[in-house]
Amino acid sequence: MNAMAVAAPVDMAELRATLAAEVGPVHFIAGGTDMLIAGRPLPGTGLLVDLARVAGMAFISTDDTDIRIGGTTTVAALAADSGLRGRFPALCEAAAQCGSVQIRNRATIAGNIANAAPAADLMPVLFAAGARLVLIGRDGAPREIALCDYTPNLGYLITEVILPGDALFPYSAFVKLGPRRDLTISRLNLALLAEYQNNHFGAVRVEAGALGLGPLRLPLAEIALAGRKLEPATLCDFLSALAAEVDAAIPGRNSQIYKRRAVAGLGLDLIAQAVGLSPRDRLFEEAAE
Ligand SMILES: Cc1cc2nc3c(=O)[nH]c(=O)nc-3n(C[C@H](O)[C@H](O)[C@H](O)COP(=O)(O)OP(=O)(O)OC[C@H]3O[C@@H](n4cnc5c(N)ncnc54)[C@H](O)[C@@H]3O)c2cc1C
Repeated sequence: MNAMAVAAPVDMAELRATLAAEVGPVHFIAGGTDMLIAGRPLPGTGLLVDLARVAGMAFISTDDTDIRIGGTTTVAALAADSGLRGRFPALCEAAAQCGSVQIRNRATIAGNIANAAPAADLMPVLFAAGARLVLIGRDGAPREIALCDYTPNLGYLITEVILPGDALFPYSAFVKLGPRRDLTISRLNLALLAEYQNNHFGAVRVEAGALGLGPLRLPLAEIALAGRKLEPATLCDFLSALAAEVDAAIPGRNSQIYKRRAVAGLGLDLIAQAVGLSPRDRLFEEAAE
């Protein structure tokens, strides 16, 4: 018999009281797009806390130095937010490419993080931005940790995602490769954050998804771009570095050959999107030859 109880708090005060009162295991459900997939077992015991009605947990604030995003903010809201697009287009792009319209309308940013799928589309972008999380546990006290230090399923609620302003470079992009154009889980995705001026890159961060258990920083690819002019020679070095990163990440894996070839096209699209050029620009064609 299923001994799980369900609570649906309507505000943060009721949510905190609910967490404090529960002595058994606590589980959360937000959009339900991962938890309710057919065939996946639901938690059998403890308390399932439905976050969908908690007032004040869905917001996007881009006016201050840091960007702050509430845990139940939907992926559709991320994709549509003009303030966010102005400051961090890669996150809007990653959100716009998550699932279908129906999935994006339900799926939440914290659900994407806590589900921790290797192919999760928001994760490489959030890692590249040095995201931090605000968590609350049973005691209801907020604590802030780096996203890279977060472990899912320990009973902590993600109330907020913080993107520190000093780590947000002005140029950013996200690209993904999947078996279909729409509603597809990434076979490989890439996020880029960069300083870029007068045709030259400054500091660069590159992160990949679906190359390991979680997002993977690609230092060789960063070195190939950082401080260099955007020209075919730089792009060729960038593509060689990406291929080397794939080889190092998944040596001997069935998908290694496919991904080391596929990453080239993805890498050129990434740069084109970041600097606002067409991927069919002669520059990229020369690099691909
Ligand atoms: C058809 C389909 C297509 C999809 N396509 C994509 C895609 O293209 N890209 C992609 O990245 N993902 C995709 N997904 C996966 C999914 O939509 C995302 O991971 C989504 O962001 C999960 O959010 P949710 O609110 O629905 O999570 P839920 O299903 O509600 O929860 C997922 C997990 O997160 C935990 N959780 C939820 N909220 C919190 C919180 N605030 N604090 C702590 N833990 C929490 C839950 O306990 C659960 O373990 C797809 C899913 C489906 C079914």
